[in-house]
Amino acid sequence: MSESIIGIDLGTTNSEVAIVKDGRVTVIPVSEGVSILPSVVGIADDGSLLVGEAAKNQYVLRPERTVRSIKRHMGEFVPVKMGDKDYSPQEISAMILLRLKKIAEDYLQQPVSKAVITVPAYFSDAQRQATREAGEIAGLTVVRIINEPTAAALAYESGHIGAKKALIYDLGGGTFDVSVVNLEGDVVEVLASHGDNHLGGDDFDQKIVNHAVQHILKQHGVDVKGSATAMARLQRAAEAAKITLSDQPYALISEEYLIENNGLPLHLSLEISREEYQEMIMPFIDATLDATHIALAGAGLTVSDIDEILLVGGATRTPLVANRLEQTLGLQPRGELNPDLCVAMGAAIQAAIIQGAKTSSVLVDVTPYTFGTSAIAFLNGEEYPYCFVPLIRKNTPIPVSKSEVFFTTHDGQTKVDIDVYQGEDPDALNNIEIGRFLIEGLRKTSSGNPIVTTFAIDVDGILHVSSREKATGLEHSITINNVLTRFENDKLDEARARINTLFGEQDSVQDNASNQNKEELTALLEKADRLLKNAGPEDSADLVNAIEAVKDARDQPEQLLRQAIDDLADLLYYMET
Ligand code: AMP
Repeated sequence: MSESIIGIDLGTTNSEVAIVKDGRVTVIPVSEGVSILPSVVGIADDGSLLVGEAAKNQYVLRPERTVRSIKRHMGEFVPVKMGDKDYSPQEISAMILLRLKKIAEDYLQQPVSKAVITVPAYFSDAQRQATREAGEIAGLTVVRIINEPTAAALAYESGHIGAKKALIYDLGGGTFDVSVVNLEGDVVEVLASHGDNHLGGDDFDQKIVNHAVQHILKQHGVDVKGSATAMARLQRAAEAAKITLSDQPYALISEEYLIENNGLPLHLSLEISREEYQEMIMPFIDATLDATHIALAGAGLTVSDIDEILLVGGATRTPLVANRLEQTLGLQPRGELNPDLCVAMGAAIQAAIIQGAKTSSVLVDVTPYTFGTSAIAFLNGEEYPYCFVPLIRKNTPIPVSKSEVFFTTHDGQTKVDIDVYQGEDPDALNNIEIGRFLIEGLRKTSSGNPIVTTFAIDVDGILHVSSREKATGLEHSITINNVLTRFENDKLDEARARINTLFGEQDSVQDNASNQNKEELTALLEKADRLLKNAGPEDSADLVNAIEAVKDARDQPEQLLRQAIDDLADLLYYMET
């Protein structure tokens, strides 16, 4: 067996190592159930070398013996002090690479001496050379250095046919990069890149920390900024709250004994809504969108030239990121691959391509449909009671659970109807209702009573929908089976065809009729559509019925379909004469 080439994402905050084995991409665990190695090295009290989590943990207590974010210094000729010795940035990076090499060797039970390593697209020659040297110090021949957006594109799209333009939006903990790439087979060309070296999810945490600090000052008259321990605790709690807000409409920061105030312990209990949080981080997201437009301009392209938006980096799990990208670019971004791991996966795919192994993009279990509910909102500028509110978007990996808050609309309202839909249309009534239930017995209060609705899909394709009155915890729910398959061939296509026919786009009509029937059917439906526009009420009802009958017959034996087509043809003949 030839020696495996490993793929390494050598990140500013975290690093990962992956491999393609038997055509499948695997991110190698660095410890049980953990695939991410913090890019931190340090010297322990006993003089031993620490790499990863252990080094990260000692950073607060021993910053002078710990080094973080060395990637920011690659290519510089600066000594990096760690303990009582100076090191080059390459040597520090080599310590991380050596650990990853050992992890891969333990996993594969064989020596590893070759790697593909990723770097940001904007890295200069000197920075790339330094990365190569780091590999060599670690005993790795760097068979290729590839750009991070190239790796991400390979993870998503390797093996696809034809050419595509993709936007790779990479928002990590401390850096933001956006690249426009051209994909052709397994060849990825970066057309333009832009970004901000000091923007990322850590800034989002900071906003929450500041918010909590202000709250404590206002509520208790205490300035916690003076206490390093209290600030460290707030920092951790803020990141946890941020992560909760990616899936939930509210997060509670609860820290007992945060600080002492006039000899008494101060307990912090602060709830943050997703709405408040989104307002805090909006300027950051806007800055990333500005950078995106700059990258597009740099590539000489416009929004309409882009076929795919691919999400990379842990902070892209923030729903506002995908929402704002979709709003401004008119394309639903893809985020089905783990955004922390897809660069390492792409590096492994590149390694396999170099070895001539058969590879394809990474496959994950996703929901092929969008699920959501309806609410009063504005549709086409008018208030409308059945606006579709998607909770789980198609292509989301399963299992998944997402919650949203809704509010009662009138005073004294004690019940709310919850409709569950599958579809994409902003008008819920054009989607397929797959269930409904009533939450009743709500407390009598003024309008605006928050109701938290949760949609969860498990690995068996069971959708569990529940609604809870936030103030009381009163909850009702339903369970719908087989949501990932049940409407695949019948209702969904039918509904789509119905709508398309009425709007004059027959391309998506699918049937199992013979080609001859198919052609005839298309021509007839086109004609029916034309006549429907000028038909009187009675004729149009007949016509809609005849169209429906044809649609219903599509999956029936040929004979029945023939009959339905003939009936529709007769009706059209009658209407024309
Ligand atoms: P990366 O540098 O790509 O590993 O991304 C790390 C950043 O992603 C950190 O700021 C994390 O707090 C953030 N992050 C991780 N998970 C989530 C999540 N579910 N929602 C929002 N941010 C997240």
